[in-house]
Amino acid sequence: MAGILFIISAPSGSGKSTLVSQLLTLVERIDFSISYTTRAPRGSELDGREYHFTTREQFERMIAAGDFLEWAEVFGNFYGTAVSALDQAREHGRDLLLDIDVQGALQVMKKLPAAVSIFILPPSPQVLEMRLRNRSQAEHMTIESVIERRLTEAREELKQLHHYRYAIVNDILDQAATELRAIVLSERATFECPEASADAVDAVIADTCLTSSPFPRLQAALDNFTNNHA
Ligand code: ADP
Ligand code: 5GP
Repeated sequence: MAGILFIISAPSGSGKSTLVSQLLTLVERIDFSISYTTRAPRGSELDGREYHFTTREQFERMIAAGDFLEWAEVFGNFYGTAVSALDQAREHGRDLLLDIDVQGALQVMKKLPAAVSIFILPPSPQVLEMRLRNRSQAEHMTIESVIERRLTEAREELKQLHHYRYAIVNDILDQAATELRAIVLSERATFECPEASADAVDAVIADTCLTSSPFPRLQAALDNFTNNHA
């Protein structure tokens, strides 16, 4: 494709949607891929903005027609990335951002190895639980079993972190947003002109997020998930 494909995954409640919205205001020439899902709209979500909300039957027809680059079942609902999102970004020479779960991300990494993968994680299971609770209270939908399930799932997803090129610990929002922006800009600089180095500051920030050499904040967050059972 003409642009770069960025894949972002994170355990639910880590702050991925918050960070993605910030990124889209900080960086130009990048599109967000609007996924298809069979889950019902939440809070103020609108069809065609956060997701294309669809029926299970329609989703299954799209699978059969080969319309998806990847799809997966997450928390009992289907989610998928349309091949057409990729085609459109390619046509317009823009980068494309996929916000997808670990199962879907692994499928895309296999099909398109040049994709740049980024894993976002919270600093600890306690912080994750607090964010899940705050969000569900704001949406008047606190269900203990759902929160429990998401915390358990988070530990499982973290086991796949080593497949991703970058990791961002979303502790302080501004710092995490700066890291995400630096990764996009530094990958762009390398893609557009491999000989030229990215803006020195962005390149240094991006390098500190590489999973190949876990930085102290990443190691601390991983330890928190291994040692503390919230
Ligand atoms: P996700 O998309 O990963 O499920 P959200 O972006 O919906 O997560 O964030 C979950 C909750 O945590 C939201 O209420 C959001 O406002 C809050 N949040 C996100 N990032 C931070 C942060 N760095 N510090 C404090 N709260 C945060
Ligand atoms: P939510 O229902 O909270 O918006 O999303 C639940 C999970 O589904 C998140 O991890 C999100 O990244 C993932 N997701 C959203 N769209 C897609 C998609 O198109 N494909 C896959 N595999 N996962 C998706």
